Amino acid sequence: MKKDNEMKKLPFFACFKKNMGNIHKLSPSYIPIAVIYTLTERSMPFLYMILGAQIVDMLLTGVDQKEILTVAVILVGSRMVLELIRTATQQLLSMRWQLVAHRKNKEIGSKAMHMDYDILERNSTLELIAQADGNTDKEGGMGEYLLRTLDLIGVGGSCIGAIVTMAGLFIAVPVQGEGAVYGFFASPLSYLLLLGLLLASIYVGSKCEAKQGKIRYSRDQIEVRSGRIYWFFLNLINNYAMGKDIRIFKMSEVIRKKGMEARGDIENAQKQAIRATTRIGALALLMQNVFVVAVYVYVGIKAIYGMITIGEVTKYVSAITLLQTQIGALFALLISINTQNSYLESYNELMEVKNQKYEGTLPVEKRYDNEYELEFRNVSFHYPNSDRLVLKNVSFQLKMGQKLAIVGANGAGKTTFIKLLCRLYDPTEGEILLNGIDIRKYDYDEYIGLFSIVFQDYKIFSFSVAENVAAGPSYDIDRVVKSLQDAGIYERVLDMKSGIDSRLLKDQQDGDEEGIEISGGEKQKIALARALYRDAPLVILDEPTSALDPIAEQDIYMRFNDMVADKTAVFISHRMSSCRFCDEIVVFDEGRIAENGTHDTLVADEGGIYHRMWEAQAQYYV
Ligand code: ADP
Repeated sequence: MKKDNEMKKLPFFACFKKNMGNIHKLSPSYIPIAVIYTLTERSMPFLYMILGAQIVDMLLTGVDQKEILTVAVILVGSRMVLELIRTATQQLLSMRWQLVAHRKNKEIGSKAMHMDYDILERNSTLELIAQADGNTDKEGGMGEYLLRTLDLIGVGGSCIGAIVTMAGLFIAVPVQGEGAVYGFFASPLSYLLLLGLLLASIYVGSKCEAKQGKIRYSRDQIEVRSGRIYWFFLNLINNYAMGKDIRIFKMSEVIRKKGMEARGDIENAQKQAIRATTRIGALALLMQNVFVVAVYVYVGIKAIYGMITIGEVTKYVSAITLLQTQIGALFALLISINTQNSYLESYNELMEVKNQKYEGTLPVEKRYDNEYELEFRNVSFHYPNSDRLVLKNVSFQLKMGQKLAIVGANGAGKTTFIKLLCRLYDPTEGEILLNGIDIRKYDYDEYIGLFSIVFQDYKIFSFSVAENVAAGPSYDIDRVVKSLQDAGIYERVLDMKSGIDSRLLKDQQDGDEEGIEISGGEKQKIALARALYRDAPLVILDEPTSALDPIAEQDIYMRFNDMVADKTAVFISHRMSSCRFCDEIVVFDEGRIAENGTHDTLVADEGGIYHRMWEAQAQYYV
C-alpha cells in the first residue's frame, strides 16, 4: 500500500512531450494564449526595474523635467498596455483551462466506454481510471502544467535579466576608499561570499521543495484511493433506492463506520502532510530571509562608500533578490513539474491501454428479409480472471425468425452465453458465426447494431420516459408510444403528469420537477420498450419478465409473437410456462447444452432436466 503512494521517477522530456501533445489535442488555442500571458506577466517587473531606476537617477542628477516626464509616460503607457493584454489573456486562459479539464473528463469517460469489457472489469483498470480521474485534477491539472512549464522559460529569462541587471554591482568601483570594510566590500571575496550564500539558500530551498512535493504526492494518492471508498459508502447512504434495505436491516451503522474509516485515513494523511510541509517550509523561509538581509547589508554598504548610486540601490537589491527567488522558483518549478508528471502519467497510462479484442472491419450485410443465422460452433469459455470453464463445447444453430428459450439453473452459463453473443467477451475456444462468418471479422458497431438486448441488470436513468425508451435525446413519438404499448406500460405513462415527457426516478434533482419513482415491474417494461424501440432483427431478453406479476407476464407472452414478429428472438427465462411459445428450448447444465427440443418433446422426457424443472414449477400453478 505504502509503495503505491510513492512518486515514480519519470523522464522529464518524454513526459513533457506527451503532456503537451495531450493539452494541444484537448484545446489547440490554450498553448498560444498561455505563451502570451506568461510573456506579458514576466516582462512587467523589468519595466519598473529599469525605467524606475532611470527616473530616480534623473531626479537626483537634475535632468530636464520634460525628459523625466517622457520616461514616466513610457513607463505608465507600457504598463497599461501590458496589463490589458495580461488581463484579457488571463480570462481567456481560465475559460480554456476549464475546457481542457472538461474535455479530459470526456476523454476518460469515452476511453472507459470503448474499452474491452474484460479489460474494464479488472480491478487494476478501475483503479487506473479512478487515478486518471482524480490525479489529473491535482495541483491545477493540465492547465496548470502548461503554465508551470511556461513559467520555467519565464523564470529562466528572469534569471538572465537579473544577472545582466546586477552585473554593474560587481564591475563598477567608481571611487577609491580606505579601511578594512571598504577593502572587503571592494574585493572579489565579498562577491564570492554573497554567491555562496545565494547558492546555499537555493540548495536548501530546492531540497525543501522536493521533500514537500513527495509528501503532497503521497497524501494525494491516499486521498484518491480512500476518497473512492468514502464516496462509495456515502452514496450508499444517500441512495434513495437502497434506503429500504438499509433501514430494515439497520445497516446504516456499518456503512457509516466503513465510510468514516476511509474519511479518517484521508484526514490523517492531510494532517501529517500539513505538519511536515510546514516544518520544512519554515526552514526554507529562514534561509531565504538570511540571504535577503545579507543583500541589503552588502548593497547598502557599497552605497555608503559611493561604489554605487542611491538610485542603483533599489535596482541592485531588486535584481539580487529577484535572482534568488527566481533560481529558487526554477528548482521549485522543475520539482513541481516532475510531481505533476507523476499525476498526469496515470492519464497517459489509461489512454495507452490497448484493446485486445480483434476489431473486424467487415460490414454486416443489410438484409431486408432479416435472413440472419447465428451458430455457436464448439464454443468453450472461461472468464479472464478464472480458469474454470463456464461454457463447455457448446454448439447449436439459431435460424432466422426462430424463437429460442434458454433455461437452466442459476450459474449454468445462460447469461455468459449472451455476453459471448454480444462480443463482450470472445470464446476461449471455438467460434460464433453470423451467416457462416466468424463474428470477430465484422465491424463491431455494425454487428452489435443487429441486436436489441434487455440485460438482467438493465438500467433505467433519471431521464424522461421517452428518452429512456429511445436511449437518446431525440426520438420518434409514434414509435415511443407503440413500444410502450407493446411493452404494456403505456396506460401507466399516460397517468403521469407529463406523459412520455415525465422524468423518472429520484436520484437527480432537476429544478422543481420531481422524478417519478416506478415499481420494479414497471421499470422492466420500460426496458422492454427500449429493446422494442430499437427495432433490431435479433432480440435478446435475459429474464425479461422476472419482476412482473403473473398477469402482466402472461399478457406480455401472449403478445410476444406480435411484438417480435418475424425477428429472431432469444429468451432466458426461469418461468417454464414462458418457454411454451418458443420454437426451440435449450437447457443449459453446468456450461453444457444438456437437452434441446420443443416444449412438448422435452416435457415428455421424464428423466430429463426440463421435465423436472417443469414439474417443480407446475405444482405451484395447479
Ligand atoms: P446464469 O446466467 O446461468 O445464472 P452466468 O452465465 O451468469 O449464469 O454465470 C455462469 C458462471 O460464471 C457462474 O458460476 C458465475 O459465477 C461465473 N461468472 C459470471 N460472471 C463472471 C465474471 N465476470 N467473472 C468470473 N466469473 C463469472
